Amino acid sequence: MKNKNKSESFNKSKKNGIPKNELTSNNHSSDNSNSNKSDLNIKSQKLLKQRQELPIFSAKREIVDYIYKNKTVILVGETGSGKTTQIPQFLYEEGLVRKNNCAIAITQPRRVAATSISKRVADEVGTKLGARVGYTIRFDDCSSKYTKIKYLTDGMLLREVLSDPLLLKYRIVILDEAHERTLRTDVLFGMLKEIQVKREKLAKDQREKMRSLKASEMHKAPLNVRGPKTHVKFDNSDSESESESDAKEAIIKKVKVQEDEIFELKIVVMSATLDAEKFSNYFNGAPILYVSGRQYPVKIKYTYEPQNDYLDAAHLTVMQTHLETNTDSGDILVFLSGQEEIESLEKLIRETSKHLPKSKKGLVVAPIYAALPQNLQNKVFEKLPSDHRKVVLATNIAETSITIPGIRYVIDTGVHKVRGFDARVGVESLLVEPVSKSSARQRAGRAGRIDSGVCYRLYTENDFEKLTEDDVPEIMRRQLTSVILMLKASGIDDVIGFDYMDPPSKSALKNALLELYSLEALDDSGKLTDLGKWMAEFPLDPVYSKVLYESIKHKCTSEALDLVAALSVDSLFYSPIDNREAAFNAHKQFQSLNGDHWTVINLLKAFNEYKNNSSKVVIFDQLENDPDSFELYENANNKDKSSSDKLEFWCKKNFVSFRNLSHVIRIRQQISNLASNLNIDVSTSCGDDTDTVLICLLSGFFYKCAMLQPDGTYRSLTGSQTVHIHPTSSMFRKKTAAIVYDQLVFTNKLYAKSVSAIQPGWLSIAAPRLYGNNSF
Ligand code: ADP
Ligand code: MG
Repeated sequence: MKNKNKSESFNKSKKNGIPKNELTSNNHSSDNSNSNKSDLNIKSQKLLKQRQELPIFSAKREIVDYIYKNKTVILVGETGSGKTTQIPQFLYEEGLVRKNNCAIAITQPRRVAATSISKRVADEVGTKLGARVGYTIRFDDCSSKYTKIKYLTDGMLLREVLSDPLLLKYRIVILDEAHERTLRTDVLFGMLKEIQVKREKLAKDQREKMRSLKASEMHKAPLNVRGPKTHVKFDNSDSESESESDAKEAIIKKVKVQEDEIFELKIVVMSATLDAEKFSNYFNGAPILYVSGRQYPVKIKYTYEPQNDYLDAAHLTVMQTHLETNTDSGDILVFLSGQEEIESLEKLIRETSKHLPKSKKGLVVAPIYAALPQNLQNKVFEKLPSDHRKVVLATNIAETSITIPGIRYVIDTGVHKVRGFDARVGVESLLVEPVSKSSARQRAGRAGRIDSGVCYRLYTENDFEKLTEDDVPEIMRRQLTSVILMLKASGIDDVIGFDYMDPPSKSALKNALLELYSLEALDDSGKLTDLGKWMAEFPLDPVYSKVLYESIKHKCTSEALDLVAALSVDSLFYSPIDNREAAFNAHKQFQSLNGDHWTVINLLKAFNEYKNNSSKVVIFDQLENDPDSFELYENANNKDKSSSDKLEFWCKKNFVSFRNLSHVIRIRQQISNLASNLNIDVSTSCGDDTDTVLICLLSGFFYKCAMLQPDGTYRSLTGSQTVHIHPTSSMFRKKTAAIVYDQLVFTNKLYAKSVSAIQPGWLSIAAPRLYGNNSF
């Protein structure tokens, strides 16, 4: 391990490190797990050996001391060296977070990383997930007051700042995967710097106060304890009587419990690959620690010519690698851009595998991507018998966030999905784009963890040279509306002068402020309105919370909840290639002439009706009491298999995704709980008054509209772009004066998805600040 900058030598005596009273052994006695505690311990013991083999393990003492001694530390260590799983445990084991008000937050840009890593760490610690170790992601909180090591998405930590502006729960915040420079991590950088300064002052003030309070209380103590003595002490040289010293003890305790102790906030910025100097400069010269890992050489192979169809090329390369190398020589990892590509390749490989020679059977496909259900995520980590080989199909999640063991062959398609904001149409979109050189290097590195490996880049060397060195930070290319609302809601008014590591463009900031103003979240002077505060209460895009707010006025909250929940997941309907017609006919029964929004409302209504009519449907009733519990869902699912089967069958019959629908129901329940807490009657329904719901939808979606042109195309209101209705929409090939949509996707043309018909006149009602004077 090397340390740079304000380097300090590590092997100092313990008294220079953590004070004795904070050094305690790892003790989980207060875990609220009981029945299978010994099983948990056995598992933890088994994993200890694996932990000890990680490169980071031998540097434990030094890392802990270093973090103890410095306010902020930049820690750089190779992917797979054990940063994410081990460092929080080290800090916990060494007693840094044993006291009240003391937990560790570890942010992750990706939900899957937060859930799968926390599960692993819970096993390593020997605790149930949600007890000592937990996670929080949007719409799913698996943590408790006992949680000391909490993995959470950067977005969720940002939300916690709203309810706990100084993050007093946490003594240490680890900003993991900092190189990814996600929008929310970037905002957290600035916020945490500010919180750190405030906490330092607060902790100092509190210590002063406690000192003087103790002194004055002690002074008064003997007077307070005058009274009959119970016994006389002879053998104590101490001049105080026992009752006096007991009283002083009590006072000290009293002073302590009056206020929970406030600690300075420690920040650890962690990554496998970042511009450490830049981060150090930003964090006031924070010291940089380098932890070396193990990396074997990786041979890079490029294609001779560019590939038109990289999915096909990936398929061929997987099969070729499998046939040409020994099955037990190592597993294969393919990097793709997203779920659809992963599912297509999975199908192709499964199909081809059927025709493999007997000696080459045993090819097991293990996918990993953001929307993969939790119970299926572990497959990538499972060890297979030596005559089997794993082909992991992953998004860029496997680049640095999650290390999959056993890989020796990497196939890099050279693409990833990037969220970008198209200012011309005022809409965010997800685009498949070439990766940066730095990503390509990380991908290749995954082949060299257990031995020397090979990375097949499905592009030419010339194309590699043309890639950018690093990705552009999200803050410079994404829509800022949501984070600006968060900044304002957390009391940061000057969003232009905020301490950004790389400031966003003035025009992006202006766009966001204008949108928030149009949504009535800001007043004329740019201050947050009561409505803005209300909107920030929900873990939703401000556009969605505005719809929810308007629904109270329009008495259609139940429908608005349906919409907001349904728009938070991928499509609920599916249409298999070999059964298109049956799917089309099944979907028709839910279809509304007004378009896709009412279609999903119809679907949810029909499902609920079926659910209420079918006897003894346990899962959803239980979920209503505890909507966070995925486990409950699973257990209930097992307990009442027959009713769950019934619902699943209903979905299958109607070509509706049971998994996505269950997710929508859970999300709806959570938003509904939040709204109920704000005294909103969540049951108000407008029946089938379609216009009311669409006007209400427009109050948030007024930027996402297009008008019919004389030539039969639609033109977006923002940016005047030609927009086509996507073939998956019930509005496909239909003509109506104006449309509202949820998202735009670029393929060969600009397509609008989730589309409904609206009347142009509704716009000035829905967004008076923007369209008040327009007559459409
Ligand atoms: P880093 O953060 O430095 O990239 P991690 O702490 O994520 O490293 O990983 C350390 C090791 O733990 C890796 O070898 C990885 O394969 C293993 N690991 C992490 N999560 C799991 C899991 N869910 N199951 C099995 N092994 C895991
Ligand atoms: Mg990591």
